[in-house]
Amino acid sequence: MHRALEGQVGEAVVVDVADLTTAEVELGAARAVRHGDDAVPATDLGDHTVTASLHTCRSTTGVAAMRVVLDWDGTVTVRDSLWMLLDEFGDREIFAQAEKDLGKTLSYREVMETELATIQVPFEEALTFLLDAVVVREGFHELAAKHNPLILSGGFHQTIEPLLAREGVSLEVKANRIDPRPDGWLIEWRDPEPCEVCGELCKRRNLPADRPMAYIGDGYSDRCAALAADRIFARDALARHLEAEGVPFERFDTLTEVVAALAA
Ligand SMILES: [Mg+2]
Ligand SMILES: [Zn+2]
Repeated sequence: MHRALEGQVGEAVVVDVADLTTAEVELGAARAVRHGDDAVPATDLGDHTVTASLHTCRSTTGVAAMRVVLDWDGTVTVRDSLWMLLDEFGDREIFAQAEKDLGKTLSYREVMETELATIQVPFEEALTFLLDAVVVREGFHELAAKHNPLILSGGFHQTIEPLLAREGVSLEVKANRIDPRPDGWLIEWRDPEPCEVCGELCKRRNLPADRPMAYIGDGYSDRCAALAADRIFARDALARHLEAEGVPFERFDTLTEVVAALAA
């Protein structure tokens, strides 16, 4: 936990460097803890990164080995690309009503299926629109290069991957698939089992096991998964929700800010 990590800063940590499985060259800070044959409290060294590095390990680039999970719509993309599709090709009244009912009278699954069923254009037409209209958030390329994040999305492989290709970025993607039927698009859910924590078709079930983990998101479908992370970076509706719930998070506008925060 990020909060736990902060709590550990300043506590005495006794570490036998020889026992660390990570190559010692990657743990330059750890050597600083060795003082003669005694490990000394990190506070005596006046360097907070020392303690943090012992818990997270450090890559040779000096960036903490934090697993980064990244939402796609409204997080990587400046505007939610599903909303862009619904606005352009779907039924705007149904879209607006479904978003109002989300989490109240309709589940996430019901909202997504109701909304996407109002899109009936051929997939190629929709993709051409997205490739022309979707803009990625500042700092995305830097975040991708430095942290190799997992893209975990409630959206669709068929729309995310061509946009990643357009950006010249190659990342692992976990998302759903779309069956673009002429009588209304149908979602092929990657994982149709509801989450044990929230009961929704939520992303928590598909989080990687690696810890520590940072989660970066913006919306309703990020709520539950974000709570499983050690650090939460949030904007827009997710930020408002976490604030209302009293959950600590780091607010971001650009992904450049997230890269800087992860390096701090
Ligand atoms: Mg989103
Ligand atoms: Zn959940």
